[in-house]
Amino acid sequence: MESMEDLCVTECTRCPALVDSRSQIVNGTGPEDADVVFVGEGPGANEDAEGEPFVGRSGTVLDDQLRIVGLERDRVRITNCVRCRPPENRDPTKDELANCRGYLEAELGRLDPEVIVTLGKVPSEHLLERSVAVTKEAGTLEDVRIEGTPRRLLICVHPAATLYDRSQEETFASALERAADLADVGDDGSGQTRLDGF
Ligand code: URA
Repeated sequence: MESMEDLCVTECTRCPALVDSRSQIVNGTGPEDADVVFVGEGPGANEDAEGEPFVGRSGTVLDDQLRIVGLERDRVRITNCVRCRPPENRDPTKDELANCRGYLEAELGRLDPEVIVTLGKVPSEHLLERSVAVTKEAGTLEDVRIEGTPRRLLICVHPAATLYDRSQEETFASALERAADLADVGDDGSGQTRLDGF
């Protein structure tokens, strides 16, 4: 088995605009045996500065909801479609997404998770390869082939959506609750569910 370090991209110059805008490559974080992999769009300013995905305001929203549904951040994998910060936080281009796709596929292949949760429109459309009305479809579970392997993908709104639109909070919360159920994290064999302690 290759080491986790192999999932870390340490050098890449495929996207000239991103090479200019990044201060570092932001790799995924979390354990290799994680049941759930969250896939965001790409690093923002905080992530670019700290070298870790979802550490800014969106990260706080994600962490808080993970805790509520019984999935601690250090038990899940968190990664992005592109690993370098796009200039002015613009969406990654099709070429940039394609350039980074192999890294994401390698990560998903190694992790072999129970469920992939796409955070927002960009990762949902990238992995499902179709247009996605993310607010309407959040909470929907789909079967998708990634590199020929069948995967379960749960569409979710981006955590930042809850900051701009409070009505998205419930949508985000229920999608994460569903992710926790799919990962079956609550069943530790004791017969207790993860909500018993609340
Ligand atoms: N938004 C994303 O999509 N990814 C991050 O890592 C941070 C914010």
